[in-house]
Amino acid sequence: MIMSNTEQTLSIIKPDAVERNLDSEIKEMFLSTGFKILKEKKIQIEKSEAEVFYKVHETKPFYSDLCAYLSSGPIVVMVLEKENAVSANRELMGATNPKDASDGTIRKKYGISIDKNSVHGSDSIENANIEINFFFKD
Ligand code: UDP
Ligand code: MG
Repeated sequence: MIMSNTEQTLSIIKPDAVERNLDSEIKEMFLSTGFKILKEKKIQIEKSEAEVFYKVHETKPFYSDLCAYLSSGPIVVMVLEKENAVSANRELMGATNPKDASDGTIRKKYGISIDKNSVHGSDSIENANIEINFFFKD
């Protein structure tokens, strides 16, 4: 029996990467890894919206800076689809700190620092659904 496990996940190209016009190159990395980009929009959010999006981090010391940063400029938000999309995207993104990211990952290639690490990706199927609904409620 062939088991298919197609999932969707949310990806964000963060302000540091959009500002450097890296969105096309990063999208090409998703496509060449076999992701479909089902939905996509370029937007800028308010800090108050970033605070809702990153609520899981509200007790962390970096929370306020993180929310200020995500709302500091345009971002590209995408729904990606692939087999095991959540883990496949985390793998393609690389470690949170670009210094620790493996060769071939987006963060290794483009990340500047732990805060300006170029991309966000959902960390579980449950959070992927929440995050997709946050940006793309129809
Ligand atoms: N972050 C930060 N300082 C830290 C840890 C995280 O600025 O010490 C930022 C970083 O941009 C990261 C985001 O907070 O992408 C969310 O943190 P998380 O641990 O969820 O990392 P991710 O899932 O993005 O790899
Ligand atoms: Mg995370």
